[in-house]
Amino acid sequence: MSAQILDGNAVAAKIRSELAEEIVELKKEGCSPRLEVILVGDNPASKSYVSMKQKDCTEIGILGQTTHLPASTTEDVLLTLVDRSNKDDNVHGILVQLPLPQHISEAHVIARISPDKDVDGFHPINTGKMVAGSECFLPCTPAGMQELLKEYNINPKGKHVVVVGRSNIVGKPFAIMMMQKKEWANATVTVCHTGSGDLKPFTRQADILVAAAGRPAMITADMIKPGAVVIDVGVNRIDDPQAKRGYRLVGDVDFAAAKEVASAITPVPGGVGPMTRAILLKNTVQSAKKFHTLL
Ligand code: NDP
Repeated sequence: MSAQILDGNAVAAKIRSELAEEIVELKKEGCSPRLEVILVGDNPASKSYVSMKQKDCTEIGILGQTTHLPASTTEDVLLTLVDRSNKDDNVHGILVQLPLPQHISEAHVIARISPDKDVDGFHPINTGKMVAGSECFLPCTPAGMQELLKEYNINPKGKHVVVVGRSNIVGKPFAIMMMQKKEWANATVTVCHTGSGDLKPFTRQADILVAAAGRPAMITADMIKPGAVVIDVGVNRIDDPQAKRGYRLVGDVDFAAAKEVASAITPVPGGVGPMTRAILLKNTVQSAKKFHTLL
């Protein structure tokens, strides 16, 4: 039997529509959520992500302001811009699109964003709070993955979650979130990476398998325990002369074969990606409410 498809587009649309209704009410209270997005350079993937975020904001009534700077922008200029948004009481969320050009330190820039406006959840203070299990802005992709599981009533409690990938924005925070003694978590967690050797003995144990390595179709059907839930975070561009844009997007999982083994699976595109964007909106609204003491 083919796996259930975990439809991130549908769940994200529901979140957006709930937020849109909430924003109408917030505006009546004088609270108008605003997100400041800063893009440096012309990375095509980054440009496309930023324009999608802008579109999402407009759709639900968040004022989304994008500043596009040339790739030659200095770190000082970028930090000055971040400082300005930090001080602006009308700005509730600040997002600097990553990756940044080589000459700019991402760590410096992330650390400069006010933790109270860090809707991406990357600031070291928010990371520390997440590890401690305190309330904070959670990074959008792992929070979106957790929300998707919740929506489909797939409770990680007591399950073995195996995460392939340990980046600071996906693998590591998701592993930490899953091990918390909290609702929709409380799992036993294994994290694999390039130092893990043969992955199959680990991935075959997973009740919930997360692929976040950025390697097209690296998770094959034989690496999946029958009945497992598979979350495919990977977004990889594959050349495809038949496609309008000359490429298509694939995940880290061999989807066609995996869906015959798994009990549930996220598609790429249309799985984790839209959830990431929805959580960014949610975090921005949350921040605006906090600023206006409406929480
Ligand atoms: P990174 O490149 O930062 O991290 C990749 C991780 O995967 C690293 O920890 C790396 O190990 C591990 N890895 C890579 N190859 C292998 C391998 N062959 N075997 C085992 N482990 C491996 O990537 P990100 O976490 O930023 O992104 C991962 C994927 O998710 C990408 O395709 C990205 O585009 C996508 N993504 C999707 C998002 C969405 O919203 N859908 C959001 C963010 C990312 P090591 O640490 O040892 O190098």
